Amino acid sequence: MAKHRIAVIDGDGIGPEVVAEVMRVLEAVAGPAGFEYETTFFPWGCRYYVEHGHTMPADGIEILSRYDAIFLGAVGDPRIAPEEVTGVGPVLAIRFGFDQYANIRPVKPLPGAPYPLARPTPDEIDFTVVREATEGIYVGLGGRFAPDDPQVAEIAAMRKIFGRSKELALQTGVYSEAGCRRVIERAFRLAEERDGKRLVTSATKANAMKHGMALWNDVFADVASKHPDVRSEWNNIDALSMRFVLKPESLDVVVAPNLFGDILTDLSAALLGGLGFAPSANLTDSHFPSMFEPCHGSAPDIAGKGIANPTAALLTLAMMLEHLGEDVAARAVEDGVREVVARGAVRTPDMGGSASTEDMGQAVAEAAVRLVECA
Ligand code: ATP
Repeated sequence: MAKHRIAVIDGDGIGPEVVAEVMRVLEAVAGPAGFEYETTFFPWGCRYYVEHGHTMPADGIEILSRYDAIFLGAVGDPRIAPEEVTGVGPVLAIRFGFDQYANIRPVKPLPGAPYPLARPTPDEIDFTVVREATEGIYVGLGGRFAPDDPQVAEIAAMRKIFGRSKELALQTGVYSEAGCRRVIERAFRLAEERDGKRLVTSATKANAMKHGMALWNDVFADVASKHPDVRSEWNNIDALSMRFVLKPESLDVVVAPNLFGDILTDLSAALLGGLGFAPSANLTDSHFPSMFEPCHGSAPDIAGKGIANPTAALLTLAMMLEHLGEDVAARAVEDGVREVVARGAVRTPDMGGSASTEDMGQAVAEAAVRLVECA
């Protein structure tokens, strides 16, 4: 019997509340689905910061490297730690530390969830965003300079307003050929595996970002030429954002550099009914663990009230189970969530109901166990 070792960082705000329901459902399906698991909780994030002055221990990455997967609730609480601290906290450290370059965010609306568009209908939308997660503008390169600093003299001379300013800030994006290639390649493979339109759309903006996005486009064209069975197209990020709202049914797999992908995936969370419905996985090709986290943050405004929607976290659990090779359990959890949301008897306040986080978790656990037993 397979035994999976799972590291859990439940984190801050609503993180522990939604993770408790993930654990409830995991425990319910494991036996009937025929696998064993072991979880270790790490209290990292803002609570840890208060005691230790940093959000995770120095050997945190090494500790996590011994696990098969990482499940993360949400890290961040502006009431406790400034965003600059948590922003570079566990999430980025783990993504970069384990080279989790592919952030996968499925967009398949759940009938019964609040849905913002008049058309198309929710069941006409089924696409996945593959966001590059280790490069681009998020690598943290740059700095703030006085305009007379010799390091930025050339830039200060470029335009009058630069030279006249008290300060110049540079935020440099890094795009490597191999980094672009592996994520674009993964998007094409995903399009081949999916029962979809076999279409990969590249989010780009080479007309304004003439270095990084030109490299991205060249690599995209090269990878596309090696996958003649998949159609490919590129869309400038501005036009693509409109398409996410006006014609989302035309999408299948969207591959995007880090910043564009970050923004597009919050837009796609809106198509799902809000952040409470959006799951995600951070995948690596290395022997290190991949990380699974709902797209939402710690939502301090609703934390501690027991009303957070655990749907995003539970769909994220389904992604983790699939990654661990537990396909029957993964399908049962996803279908269980869909069933509970469609039935509408148990709804958290973001769905217009008055059910608690725990009520939703309980209902999904029951549905998922029944589905595993029928499988
Ligand atoms: P971050 O900066 O960490 O991404 P954020 O402040 O941008 O966080 P969230 O913490 O995800 O965003 O929350 C934004 C809002 O969405 C919250 O204030 C909350 O009202 C709502 N929200 C987020 N997650 C959930 C959830 N699981 N259930 C219900 N509402 C949620």
